[in-house]
Amino acid sequence: AKEKGGDRFSFYEEGMSSETERRLEMEKYLRHAIERDEFKLYYQPVINLENNRLRGVEVLLRWQNSALNNPTPDHFIAVAEQSGLIVGIGKWVLEHACQQVMAWTRSGLPALSVAVNISAKQFTDGDIVENVRYALQQSGLPAAQLELEITEGLLINDTPEIRDTFKQLKALGIHLSLDDFGTGYASLSYLKRYPFDSLKIDRSFVSDIDSCGDSVTLTNAIIAMGHSFNMKVIAEGVENLNQRRILREHHCDMVQGFLYSPPIPAEQFVAWAKRYADM
Ligand code: C2E
Ligand code: CA
Ligand code: CA
Ligand code: CA
Repeated sequence: AKEKGGDRFSFYEEGMSSETERRLEMEKYLRHAIERDEFKLYYQPVINLENNRLRGVEVLLRWQNSALNNPTPDHFIAVAEQSGLIVGIGKWVLEHACQQVMAWTRSGLPALSVAVNISAKQFTDGDIVENVRYALQQSGLPAAQLELEITEGLLINDTPEIRDTFKQLKALGIHLSLDDFGTGYASLSYLKRYPFDSLKIDRSFVSDIDSCGDSVTLTNAIIAMGHSFNMKVIAEGVENLNQRRILREHHCDMVQGFLYSPPIPAEQFVAWAKRYADM
C-alpha cells in the first residue's frame, strides 16, 4: 500500500501542470512575505478634474521577491486570494496605508484621501469591519479619508451578510468605491442596493476614448449613470491630455494615470506632491 501511495504521488507530481507548480511555489514564498518584510506600498495620485488639485492616492501593493523575480500584483494577488493569504496581507496593507497617509498629514501635506483595494475574500473570510476599525484607530486617520475599492465580483453573491457588512462600513464613516466598473458580470441593480460613494471607470474603457467613438459613448453613459446615483466618478489609466480633455468635457470628477504619475514609493510621492502643488 505504501508503495502504491508513493507511485500515486509521483504520478500526481508529473501530471501537475507547470502553472500549478508555479502557483504552489509562489504560495510558499507568499506565506513568509510579511515577516520577511518583502511588501512595499506604492502610491498613485488621484486628481480632482474640476480644480486640478491633488485629492488623494490609490495604494498599490508591490512584492519585492528576487527569487520569483518580483511578481506583479495581477499574478500574486490571485495566488493570495486562492490560498486565503489575502486576508492577512490585506490587513497589513490597510494598516500601513492608513499610517502612511496620517504621517503625511502630520508632516504638513494636505489631508489626502487614501483608496485601498479590497478582495472579496476579505469580506467573506476575514473581519473587514474590525480590520478597518483597528487601522483607523491605531493610525489616527479620520474615517472620511479612507476609501475601500471593491470590485463587482463581490456583489455577484449578494447575501444579507455582505449587505450588513456594507452598512457597518458606511456607519464607520469611510467611503466605498466600486472598482473596475463595466468589466464584471453583476447586474446593475446592485447600484441601488449598495451605498457606493464613487465608481471607477476601468482603464480598458479610458485607454481608447481618444481614438474610438464607441468608448466615448460608453464612458459618457457610465459618468451620467454614476452621477444619477449621486456617485463621484473616477477614471483610471489616463495617459494623455486628449483623454483628460474628453473626460473633463463629460464631467468626470477625478482622474488618475501615467499622465500624472505611475504608482511610486512613499518618499518619491512626497516630492511629487510638493512639485505638483507648486505648478
Ligand atoms: P486596479 O485596482 O484596477 O489598479 C489599477 C492598475 O492600473 C494598477 O496596476 C496601476 O499601476 C495601473 N495603472 C494606473 N494608471 C495607469 C496608466 O495610466 N496606464 C497603465 N497602463 N496602467 C495604469 P497594478 O499596480 O499592477 O495592480 C494591478 C491590480 O492588482 C489592481 O488593479 C488591483 O486589482 C490589484 N491590487 C494591487 N494592489 C492590491 C492590494 O493591496 N490589494 C488587493 N486586493 N488588490 C491589489
Ligand atoms: Ca483599484
Ligand atoms: Ca482597473
Ligand atoms: Ca482590479
